[in-house]
Amino acid sequence: MDHHYDAIVVGGRCAGAATAMLLARGGLRVLVVEAARPGTDTLSTHALMRGGVLQLHRWGLLDAVAAAGTPAIVATEFAYGDETETIDIRPGDGISALRAPRRTVLDRLLLEAARAAGAEVRVPARVTRLLTDRGAVSRIEGIDRGTGTPFRATAPLVVGADGRTSTIARAVDADVRRRGTASGAIVYGYFPGLPRDRYHWAYRPGVTAGVVPTGDGLACVWAGTPTTRFAHRRSASLDADYRSLLAEADPALAASIGTAAPVGALRAFPGHPGWIRACAGPGWALIGDAGYFKDPITAHGITDALRDAELLAAAVLQAPRGGRAQLEALREYERTRDQLCQPLFDITERIASYQWDLAELREYLVELSQAMRSDVDALLALDNAHAA
Ligand SMILES: Cc1cc2nc3c(=O)[nH]c(=O)nc-3n(C[C@H](O)[C@H](O)[C@H](O)COP(=O)(O)OP(=O)(O)OC[C@H]3O[C@@H](n4cnc5c(N)ncnc54)[C@H](O)[C@@H]3O)c2cc1C
Repeated sequence: MDHHYDAIVVGGRCAGAATAMLLARGGLRVLVVEAARPGTDTLSTHALMRGGVLQLHRWGLLDAVAAAGTPAIVATEFAYGDETETIDIRPGDGISALRAPRRTVLDRLLLEAARAAGAEVRVPARVTRLLTDRGAVSRIEGIDRGTGTPFRATAPLVVGADGRTSTIARAVDADVRRRGTASGAIVYGYFPGLPRDRYHWAYRPGVTAGVVPTGDGLACVWAGTPTTRFAHRRSASLDADYRSLLAEADPALAASIGTAAPVGALRAFPGHPGWIRACAGPGWALIGDAGYFKDPITAHGITDALRDAELLAAAVLQAPRGGRAQLEALREYERTRDQLCQPLFDITERIASYQWDLAELREYLVELSQAMRSDVDALLALDNAHAA
């Protein structure tokens, strides 16, 4: 028997869980289907920018992030070669610090918030098929991974929040509107004993590195280089490759880690050029990496997903019953998302190309900061619109 909902969200990490939470808070009957077990990690570092922290604050979840032991980040250090510049995080917009919760913490919190708002959460379960009715997506089929039991559900809207390899984007054949060309590799691991109150980003031609303080007294330490260069220099030892990249990007950081073993395994992302896909159609929408992926060098995917969750939820809540009215609202979501994501996509392309000297890079980072400010302004405008 099919169960019927107002919206089905496929994928229950930052993009999907946040969207489901907002739709359920808006009074809709929502099903979230997530293939991974709750509280599991994923291949991603987790620096949140101001817009992401602001969303958690606006949704009443920031205290829980802090209570999970995620330290307050009050400054960002930029190391350009041997020269370091520190910029304090400006208190304002209701937040006094940034936070960088592990995905084991953030994604679980968002999914719990979705459940608390009334969403039905089916996990671990995988959506295997989408079906259409008169040209519009209307039904999913899936399987519970624990019991192997198949299930079906219908809704006027299926949201693909299923990440970079999105089944939903493939099933609806979502147009790729832009394809990036830049692609960087990142290797990261977790270490104790590093400063707890600041992000640290380091740049030298052809290499980058960073420190992202997080819970359990650990910091995520990453090193990056262009994908092609990483492939070329890769040896049999990821540990050796990581340490040599780190030493090249930031000798002081490499020295402060010394030969200490990471807590847990090192993880490597070989890189992939970004894309912007169409994110709205009859009976479907995409959110998060399913619709828009950019190189992680600007650490902005989660922040963007949390912003877009709100844009998408607002569109759906305007026309929750589906049909033409909903499609028009979804197209508006798509237009706003495109407007907000293009500047970030462009600047990320330039930084991830590694085709810069330090003077050019500094200019790019100013542009990045301006694009981030526009994002925050767009979020604050939502509050003003609600208040009006
Ligand atoms: C190496 C690396 C470092 C990064 N660092 C940062 C950073 O510091 N800061 C930042 O903001 N961003 C960062 N990002 C980007 C960030 O990870 C992504 O933008 C973010 O994870 C997107 O979230 P999402 O919810 O769209 O997708 P995901 O996190 O990929 O979640 C998708 C979920 O969908 C589920 N799923 C897939 N298919 C199905 C199916 N058929 N049925 C049910 N469930 C399904 C999967 O199990 C998965 O849990 C980084 C990315 C990488 C690769």
